[in-house]
Amino acid sequence: MTERRAGSGAPSAEDPLVIRSLDFIGGMAAAGGWRPEVTLPEIAFAGRSNVGKSSLLNVLMHRKSFARVSRTPGRTREINFFRVNGSFVLADLPGYGYAKVGKAQKAEWRPLIEGYLRRSPALRGVVQLLDVRRDPSDDDLQMFDFLADVGVDTLVVVTKIDKLSPAAVRARVEELAGQLDLDEAQVIPFSAQTGAGRHELAEAIVELIGTAATRREDEANEAEVDKTDVSTAHRSTTDRDVAGGTR
Ligand code: GDP
Repeated sequence: MTERRAGSGAPSAEDPLVIRSLDFIGGMAAAGGWRPEVTLPEIAFAGRSNVGKSSLLNVLMHRKSFARVSRTPGRTREINFFRVNGSFVLADLPGYGYAKVGKAQKAEWRPLIEGYLRRSPALRGVVQLLDVRRDPSDDDLQMFDFLADVGVDTLVVVTKIDKLSPAAVRARVEELAGQLDLDEAQVIPFSAQTGAGRHELAEAIVELIGTAATRREDEANEAEVDKTDVSTAHRSTTDRDVAGGTR
């Protein structure tokens, strides 16, 4: 996979997702509890604890500690919502299935995450993270089943690829795609350490949101030709929108 820029580098004119503003909106603590009004398209990020979700979000958003807010006491088990560029909402789902968490606590995430995924009419897609060195856990597999059941587009991002050689990463991507019955093109290899995959992920997210409005107009004009044919291959096998359609 090509590495197009360092993760912490300044956004360039080529950046498919220039971050102009990023606002914390609030946290959803329980299924059926408070959630932001549904006025913008939403993209959710999911994965087991320690998969590298905070690190990925910091790189994606070009912020050193953006995801820290989701880690403050009281927020680690909430769904934390952020408004990006005033044009879409990023939902940071709580990390699930951490081995050190007891059974009672482990069960907590399920109704919250599943409730959110079922009752979010503006949800355009879920970015599901997997550690390149690990096989999907039972929790991961249940998430995939659930996402397929809800019918939401799913992007699979394989994290921490700097820990393996490029050849080993390719082999793992092939293996994971086989295990999950995905096309390899649906899997984005990513490293928060090197920034590899940030560009591809940003393109795929922009595609999911379905608009160029996340880019500055001048940059959108300059880059229009390059960006018209992005990432359809990353879409899941279903073309269905979430029940209720988009708003
Ligand atoms: P989260 O619990 O899913 O939010 O995971 P974190 O982002 O906090 O990362 C968990 C651990 O993995 C931390 O020690 C990170 O430094 C490390 N980590 C995360 N992403 C990467 C990566 O791309 N490469 C390497 N080598 N380590 C990573």
